[in-house]
Amino acid sequence: MRADWVCPALAAHAPRLAAAYRVELRLPDPDRVALTFDDGPHPRGTPAVLAELDRRGARATFFLVGEQVARDPALAREVADAGHEVALHGYRHTLLLRRRVAEVAGDLDRAAAAIADATGAAPQLYRPPYGVFSSGVLAHVRTRGWRPLLWSRWGRDWERRATASSIARRATTGLRPGDVVLLHDSDAYSSADSWRRTTGALPSVLEAVAALGVPASPVTHST
Ligand SMILES: [Zn+2]
Repeated sequence: MRADWVCPALAAHAPRLAAAYRVELRLPDPDRVALTFDDGPHPRGTPAVLAELDRRGARATFFLVGEQVARDPALAREVADAGHEVALHGYRHTLLLRRRVAEVAGDLDRAAAAIADATGAAPQLYRPPYGVFSSGVLAHVRTRGWRPLLWSRWGRDWERRATASSIARRATTGLRPGDVVLLHDSDAYSSADSWRRTTGALPSVLEAVAALGVPASPVTHST
């Protein structure tokens, strides 16, 4: 295994590697907090998260998985129509390390097309499954003009032992304007019903954002 990757699960190494590869962890402008939801759309998780965000007038960024978009393009459209940003997380949800660059490139182009077809919006941001990049894939991503983005906070909401309060606490402890918060609106690749706990954490997370005096807004303002 070559060490040309970034894996935030290895927390001690991620910031240094992310910097080396010029992959953003935070927003360049600390004028908002970006809540990001990966792995959807999900038939139950996504509507639950959308309702919670809408209740508080918050907008977020959804890193969609192409195979999930293909299953429910109307739901992907709903995300975009509600004013949220749609972004690219791959067509299949697999670790890049075990895949050839040409194969991943094809997967990403397919995902981008599926998202654009379903939502009418071309994704501008890319985040790989598990936060793991390879240098070859990064080169392709930049050729396409997609902006790679990881995160600066997470709720660890994919874990089986996570609760709404543990997710909220992890996501908001030390929260600052400019943070990018990783959450999931789907349990397609994590522990069953994880989206219920994430949805349960959202009121506290949104309160913490409001307490900073900044909005919860998409990463880019183009929505
Ligand atoms: Zn994911």
